[in-house]
Amino acid sequence: MPLTRREFARLGALTLAARFAPNLHAAALAKSDGAPTDRSSSVGRKTGYAVIGLGRIADHFLRGVLLTTNSQITGLASGHRDKADRIAAQYNVPPGSIYNYGNFDEIAHNPAIDAVYVALPNSMHAEYTIRAAKAGKHVLCEKPMCTTVAEAEAMIAACKAADVKLMIAYRCHYEPTNLKAVQLIRSAAIGQVQAIESSFGFNMGPNEWRTNKKLAGGGPVYDVGIYSLNACRYLTGEEPSVLSACASTIDHDPRFAEVEENVSWTMKFPSGILASCATTYGADMPGYFRVYGSKGWLQVDNAFVYEGLRLRGFANNADIDELNPARDPSHFVAEAEHFSRCIQNGSEPKSPGEEGLRDMRLIAGIYRSAGIAV
Ligand code: NAD
Repeated sequence: MPLTRREFARLGALTLAARFAPNLHAAALAKSDGAPTDRSSSVGRKTGYAVIGLGRIADHFLRGVLLTTNSQITGLASGHRDKADRIAAQYNVPPGSIYNYGNFDEIAHNPAIDAVYVALPNSMHAEYTIRAAKAGKHVLCEKPMCTTVAEAEAMIAACKAADVKLMIAYRCHYEPTNLKAVQLIRSAAIGQVQAIESSFGFNMGPNEWRTNKKLAGGGPVYDVGIYSLNACRYLTGEEPSVLSACASTIDHDPRFAEVEENVSWTMKFPSGILASCATTYGADMPGYFRVYGSKGWLQVDNAFVYEGLRLRGFANNADIDELNPARDPSHFVAEAEHFSRCIQNGSEPKSPGEEGLRDMRLIAGIYRSAGIAV
């Protein structure tokens, strides 16, 4: 039976996410959470975000922040002043809080900015995360965390050195249908999980930075395959011990001059669970995962997009078919509220830099196995 919006919202508010990736939660608990000394002005008010990179995902985030109870937009950074001025007017950001890539470091002197949301092409994530940390600001960085393992390690180190928090914007960690799938699996509602299938891809348009290797790091694994990779990890609560991948490019057009078109990979987890994943820039491949257990199965369609998520399956000896009625930008509301709460309470985000680093290591392994240099 479909759940109501209210039921989904309540589900999202539960502490299920704490069980989402148990190893991460333990790591988060183990870490000290002392408040930074130079950010006392942020106490007792909404967390102020500066958004850098005013493209498509930034638009979702900006609209999401407007709907939060604990966050606000207090700065913008862009290479296009006219676009920044237009968005600033929409979100009440004063002209003095609009930056460009050159003077971005001046955010250090802006007490209204507590955190930076990095929404730039992948290869720019590391530089702006590190610059934001050096400016004393917390960082919410889009996925993929960056393009190499070394960059991911440098980002974590910079945020630790500056005593600021780093969260990777893995929306699905805060999304009720994904959380419900995790809860069902953890409660053995489908018995022992044996196998997972997942894919996500789309037909890439021309002239996108996503097919420029220098900006993107690589092809569809970095952009959309990462959702399947990350899902297999949160669905199992395990880290893969064996990985094997292959890649191909069928359409030899300019889109694939630098990056591959298709990648598929399989993983074996320590429990013996097997996962099979695929991603592409050459076909529409709606994001989904299907989990096969000894006593049932579950599938989430539209698992990684902003709305229309549908959970189906057979669990606890009963059929399930639930369409999540939440609409965009609900994922961004949940994500921003979570990070702001962490900043305000001194707690650690559930998807910290270390979570991004794990995916970066696995992505490097996928490319290595597929015989592609990263
Ligand atoms: P986009 O192309 O729509 O926006 C990128 C922004 O970066 C633009 O404002 C552009 O002006 C700016 N930019 C600065 N330097 C640039 C350069 N050299 N080349 C191109 N653009 C440059 O991209 P997007 O879809 O918003 O993606 C941005 C980031 O967000 C990526 O890392 C992507 O993986 C991530 N993303 C996350 C989600 C999600 O659901 N969490 C969805 C889409 C994208």
